Amino acid sequence: MNEMQLRFLARSENEVFARNAVAAFALLLDPTLSELSDVKTAVSEAVTNCIVHAYAGEEGWIEIVCRAEGNLLHIQVSDGGRGIADVQQAQQPFFTTLAGEERSGMGFTIMQTFMDEFFVQSRAGQGTRVVMSKALGQGAAAGNAR
Ligand code: ATP
Ligand code: MG
Repeated sequence: MNEMQLRFLARSENEVFARNAVAAFALLLDPTLSELSDVKTAVSEAVTNCIVHAYAGEEGWIEIVCRAEGNLLHIQVSDGGRGIADVQQAQQPFFTTLAGEERSGMGFTIMQTFMDEFFVQSRAGQGTRVVMSKALGQGAAAGNAR
């Protein structure tokens, strides 16, 4: 088991830093390039959601916890922002509360597609946590992930 935690301000310039920090940690599990790219995309979508939806331009913290267990990478992305009133609805493809502002409503769908496990916990007014995991490297390729 190995673990790292990251806490940073919800600023758009920190999205690249966050996804690359998680990728650097994921490298310890010897992922394929395609797996690494999937993880970066999922983290990027989760962090972007914290910045544009949870805090919507206000100051706030984003926390990422990564845990490596065997060939499994577990990632949690949390914010203390406005929260989501209806988590099921928010996960529907193309559902967005920011229509007309270049959002397509596909972030959660992308996270779900690119990771093996994915779920969202949220409380209106308190914040949101995205929990996801993916099997990486040789174990994943051989289909004996867990
Ligand atoms: P896209 O990701 O395609 O740019 P989007 O961000 O609107 O568009 P999703 O990432 O799927 O689409 O999120 C769906 C909706 O869930 C958002 O429009 C927003 O209302 C809500 N949401 C997602 N993440 C958060 C969050 N961290 N805090 C508050 N609301 C969120
Ligand atoms: Mg999004």
